[in-house]
Amino acid sequence: MLKLNFHPAGRHQLSIPGPSPVPDRISRAFSMPTIDHRGPEFGPLGLTVLAGIKKIFQTQHPVVIYPASGTGAWEAALVNTLSSGDHVLMYETGQFAALWKKIADSLGLKTEFLGLPGAEGWRKGVQSDLIEARLRADTAHAIKAVCVVHNETSTGVTSDIKAVRDAIDRAGHPALMLVDTVSGLGSAEYKHDAWGADVSIAGSQKGLMMPPGISFNALSPKAIAASKKATLPRAFWAWDEMLEMNKTGYFPYTPNTNLLYGLHEALDMILGEGLDNVFARHQRLAKACRAAVTGWGLEIQCTDAAVYSPVLTGVVMPEGIDADVVRKVIYEKFDTSLGMGLGKVKGKLFRIGHLGECNDGSLMGTLCAVEMGLSLAGVALKGSGVVAAMEVLKAPLELAQPSALKIAA
Ligand SMILES: *Cc1c(COP(=O)(O)O)cnc(C)c1O
Repeated sequence: MLKLNFHPAGRHQLSIPGPSPVPDRISRAFSMPTIDHRGPEFGPLGLTVLAGIKKIFQTQHPVVIYPASGTGAWEAALVNTLSSGDHVLMYETGQFAALWKKIADSLGLKTEFLGLPGAEGWRKGVQSDLIEARLRADTAHAIKAVCVVHNETSTGVTSDIKAVRDAIDRAGHPALMLVDTVSGLGSAEYKHDAWGADVSIAGSQKGLMMPPGISFNALSPKAIAASKKATLPRAFWAWDEMLEMNKTGYFPYTPNTNLLYGLHEALDMILGEGLDNVFARHQRLAKACRAAVTGWGLEIQCTDAAVYSPVLTGVVMPEGIDADVVRKVIYEKFDTSLGMGLGKVKGKLFRIGHLGECNDGSLMGTLCAVEMGLSLAGVALKGSGVVAAMEVLKAPLELAQPSALKIAA
């Protein structure tokens, strides 16, 4: 039952890998009066957030903003670039890759799911050599798009997207590269232009520290050209009218005015901290979290150290322990939410989010709750993960200079 009268002292520790906690500065921005989205004040707000979000994607090309969750932006990327029956090569890294494939299947695309066999696929990143080999075999160029997930939120694996681009190029294949960075953007390094993504998909409620409700498609000139020929039906998701109206900061239908105030604030916070500093902060928190897991003597879901996620860590439970029972103890006793195991790993792992509005104190609070909960749930621990994490956090953090990428600059 929904606990509407639930008023614990202090804040709930929202440690799921999205939606992530919303900073007060952003919440306050939402509370400004709703304005006329066709009026004179709206255009400058629209132009500012459209320019700011391009800096986060590290692109010179247009970014489309939808009043929708990430799932909408997945669909938008497909319907704008592809035609019914087109062959798309998707890569199975985890549950989010599987959900995206389900959408492609529903749209009448001919999907092919590539990946490592058995449980291995959900423990490692995208194997770009498999993509290269598959594309080389496609001499007729039937494959129209390659779809990969940058940060797989169900497992805690951040794939090397530049390596996928290089694999496509080495195969000399013209397929588009569509990338889901819904939970990567704003937390893990991501370069839409430099890595040659054609469409990058993101959402508001992960690294951008916003509530759910906004999602994005970052485009390339090749994706825009493909959209002129693509014939899948589209109306709400269509890029053309959006791009035309966005030139003056306006939208073809009602945008989420108040969420855009929040987005403006989020962009200012991230660009003010500096993208490189944001990425370094996430890497450091992730390292501390992994030290805790290792200190407990538990297994990390990701088995390739080169692709550990800076956004979240998947913690595998020993044989015979139901991860959802552990999560329940931690929620009820310590007012802390952890991410559940999704799809194939349901009950086998839980996920600790360390993204967005997260710092040493909030991470340590979560790790303490987890350590107490694990022991109350009867999980045999090798030692204190909390102590191990503290050792990582005691080391100084080298910060780059605050970036010159301020939203107002
Ligand atoms: C959260 C998430 C999505 C889906 O977003 P919704 O906002 O739930 O529709 C897609 N992909 C990844 C990798 C995600 O983490």
